[in-house]
Amino acid sequence: MGGKNKVLRRYLSNNNRFKSDNPDYGRAFLLNAALAYMSVICMIFGILHIIKTDHPIFIYFYFAVMILSIVVIIFFHKTDNVKLTSLFAVILATFIMGSILHLVYSDYSGLFWAAAYLPFVYLMLEGKKGVRATLILGVSGLLYIIFFHRDWQPGIFNYMSIINIAGAGACLMLLIVYYERSQKRAEKSLVAKNNQLHLMSITDRLTGLYNRHKLDETLNELVCKSKTCKKPFSIIIADIDRFKSINDTYGHLTGDKVLVEISNLLLACVRQTDIAGRWGGEEFLIICPDTDYAGITDIAKRIEAFISGYNFGCCQGVALSCGVATHNSGETVDSLLQRADTNMYQTKQSRRNT
Ligand code: GH3
Ligand code: MG
Ligand code: MG
Repeated sequence: MGGKNKVLRRYLSNNNRFKSDNPDYGRAFLLNAALAYMSVICMIFGILHIIKTDHPIFIYFYFAVMILSIVVIIFFHKTDNVKLTSLFAVILATFIMGSILHLVYSDYSGLFWAAAYLPFVYLMLEGKKGVRATLILGVSGLLYIIFFHRDWQPGIFNYMSIINIAGAGACLMLLIVYYERSQKRAEKSLVAKNNQLHLMSITDRLTGLYNRHKLDETLNELVCKSKTCKKPFSIIIADIDRFKSINDTYGHLTGDKVLVEISNLLLACVRQTDIAGRWGGEEFLIICPDTDYAGITDIAKRIEAFISGYNFGCCQGVALSCGVATHNSGETVDSLLQRADTNMYQTKQSRRNT
């Protein structure tokens, strides 16, 4: 079963040359399926007319269309040209539909194919071109019937009629499935792109941590929640000591590497529920929900000690100064940040004095 599926998939995607990220992926599938369907149906009709026919012209007609469909399939597999193959497929389908219209004798059930033919033309040509072609061809068909088939007699209904109805119905069903699938695929890729864009909008490019936009948003959310939530949240502002001299001594690229490494170390130090982000330049902000002053002081000390004891390899003496603040009931985001910032400068100052 898997093997058969693989062969079918290879045929439908021109030997996997049309990949799912290709915008023509769906149309290539539809073209291959429709052309194969045309050739098989024509072969069946051709054989049925050989067995029992009142009009031998149908035998030539069906086998000619079958051969033409196969030629178009070969053309498509050789060139991968979706536009031109779509046009050939529409011409071929129009030829079949036109012949059905022209050659109807007493069995009018061939006209059921119009129900699949017009949506097929629309899906092949797409957009405005598709609408225009569908309208022109549909109206032309109607006019042709009105002017050339005025003398229609009561028709017959036999096994051929049932094959026509079943064939056209199945074809229409396949077109609907194709349409549904291509809509779902477009929706899926839109959701994936949207998620990707959202992630980009909240991520700092260099470090991969959350950016200031996300940190601001989280702080505002937590301040709002604090009105109903009893447990306080706390923050840490962490600033790399003498980072300018790291850049000056080891170069900007090494400075970047230190920023990335510190970001990874910060992530390793905090809980999954904490939000660590780059506040700007060489400053980081860590937001810890459900954490009181004793808890946040403890985390800050742990981070400072961890960074000071870490061997950065590329440079010596990298250190972080942390400032902490615990949100007071009713306090604004700005005031909270200001207190953490002041605390960070006090830490930095006291370190410099020792
Ligand atoms: P202090 O101990 O007082 O914090 O001194 P400092 O040198 O760390 O602080 P200062 O504000 O004087 O300098 C910050 C430096 O950080 C200057 C700036 O070039 C550097 N910096 C900011 N963003 C980046 C970045 O993305 N990559 C690199 N390599 N350097 C950056
Ligand atoms: Mg700074
Ligand atoms: Mg600094």
